[in-house]
Amino acid sequence: MSVRRITKYGEDVLRAKTRPVEKFDESLKRLAEDMLDSMYQANGLGLAAPQVGELLSVFVIDMRRRLNTEAPCNYTIDGVALPMDIAMPFVAVNPKLELIGQYIETAEEGCLSFPGIYAPVERVDTVRLTYFDTDGARHVLVCDDLFARCVQHEFDHLNGVCFVNRLSNKDLFKIENKIKKLRRQTRDYLKEMKKESSANAAAGDRKDSK
Ligand SMILES: [Zn+2]
Repeated sequence: MSVRRITKYGEDVLRAKTRPVEKFDESLKRLAEDMLDSMYQANGLGLAAPQVGELLSVFVIDMRRRLNTEAPCNYTIDGVALPMDIAMPFVAVNPKLELIGQYIETAEEGCLSFPGIYAPVERVDTVRLTYFDTDGARHVLVCDDLFARCVQHEFDHLNGVCFVNRLSNKDLFKIENKIKKLRRQTRDYLKEMKKESSANAAAGDRKDSK
């Protein structure tokens, strides 16, 4: 088990486009496991690879972690309504998303890369996701409601899009101060890390010169 640090708003990796996974090997499985461990540790419902600093087309979701576990969760995988304990955790590699719903729904969203920040986001109610599992087998997920929202949110991350990029100006304005504060905190953290790593490198140089 390996819990990784979750990247925060203000880090470039959250704005970059990911590249497709080419090798379905052990390192991909390890990445998926690390992402799940990190997501569970942070009490999240979904996590995309850029959120652990990897620019790869992978995301994970576990609908068993939704706040209202009584809420219906409808989905099929390869046409079958699998029990949740078999379908979850859900890992999607190199996914392609189709918005097949006819309705737009608005609901509050949050994101592990934006701790404590929530805002209403419009999403299509039903989606179809074609993806690969970590063994390289191709599957098709069809889901609606919260699961579909989660899929759209995580898929966005693979294209460098965060939920705040989808807000109306009015809703963005409401959380603007919190976002600016988070960006400052991230900038300070990155500066501190840079200082530390150059201090370590300097210590290494001193050791080498002995
Ligand atoms: Zn997110």
